[in-house]
Amino acid sequence: MERVTDYQVIIIGSGPAGCTAALYLSRANIKALVLEGMQPGGQLTITTDVENYPGFPEGIMGPKLMDLMRQQAERFGAKFLPLEPVESVNFRTHPFEVKTDSKLFIAPAIIVASGASAKQIGLPSEQALQGFGVSYCATCDGFFFKEKEIVVVGGGDSAMEEANFLTKFAKKVTVIHRREELRASKIMQDRAQANPKIEFLFNTTVDEVLGSKEDGVTGLKLRNLITNEVTDFATQGLFVAIGHTPNTAPYVGQLELDQAGYISLPHRNSTQTNIHGVFACGDVVDHIYRQAITAAGSGCQAALDCERWLTHERITERWDLPKGEEERV
Ligand code: NAP
Repeated sequence: MERVTDYQVIIIGSGPAGCTAALYLSRANIKALVLEGMQPGGQLTITTDVENYPGFPEGIMGPKLMDLMRQQAERFGAKFLPLEPVESVNFRTHPFEVKTDSKLFIAPAIIVASGASAKQIGLPSEQALQGFGVSYCATCDGFFFKEKEIVVVGGGDSAMEEANFLTKFAKKVTVIHRREELRASKIMQDRAQANPKIEFLFNTTVDEVLGSKEDGVTGLKLRNLITNEVTDFATQGLFVAIGHTPNTAPYVGQLELDQAGYISLPHRNSTQTNIHGVFACGDVVDHIYRQAITAAGSGCQAALDCERWLTHERITERWDLPKGEEERV
């Protein structure tokens, strides 16, 4: 297995948090490598227009924004390595170890920016129309559904929140839930049920998303779970709000996680995890805001915390020891 010891910081994840951390570290002359994972650029690469990232008055396509963020970090020397998903880490030793399929990365500091993935229903047609009428973020995409009739799938607090938010734009929002009862808290249910623009379809699942990249979503094939009957339902958008999964599997047992599996940050106003020298930022620590701009902001914080830690521990000096001597750190 190839050992890579050329970097002072390994950044795991290449969304707005990881790219911003790479930009700040490389501008501070710190050698940083971004392990991009299987979806280089992260969640924004599966959206289309981004209109709420400051600095782009006309909006910008999600993949383009991520490409620019990456280029900006590369300009100052940050390196990016695509398609090297992290299989395991060893944060019990120092320098830390990060293992992928073919390489072992060894570095004195780590920034985990591995994000969270919106859960998907799991339909091929859902995947094909992502960014073309299928969305996982009402704050990001609701604006594009002005005066349209749309569907929200899910029965939890997220679905209620998304449905309520979407009524600011949409003419009608239908919440489709697979059970008879909602899982959401009473207050969120009451709010959604009192909203005259929201209707509910219970005991129902989506079997297929209808439409094309040219026309967007035009309808859904719905299955009534009691009668098993399948019917077509006309709609112009599908918001899937069935929860998120933080990408924290490699860190279980080493980094402190909260009940939902997100990385816990023990100190207020710091991105330091329970392990000194390991920092975390972006959606992998945030189940509330989940915005590109908040992720980028926390990526900046992680880079500053990391840089200060490296300086404070005098690791940047010691890391310049001749090859083979680094392990004395
Ligand atoms: P959640 O509570 O886990 O709810 C997920 C919902 O999606 C459930 O109703 C579930 O159905 C449904 N679902 C899951 N997989 C599905 C599938 N494959 N197909 C169809 N439906 C599926 O997730 P969440 O709503 O994202 O909330 C997560 C946490 O964040 C909760 O603790 C919540 O209270 C909190 N939160 C709070 C707020 C707020 O207070 N403002 C807002 C958002 C989230 P079943 O019910 O049948 O399992």
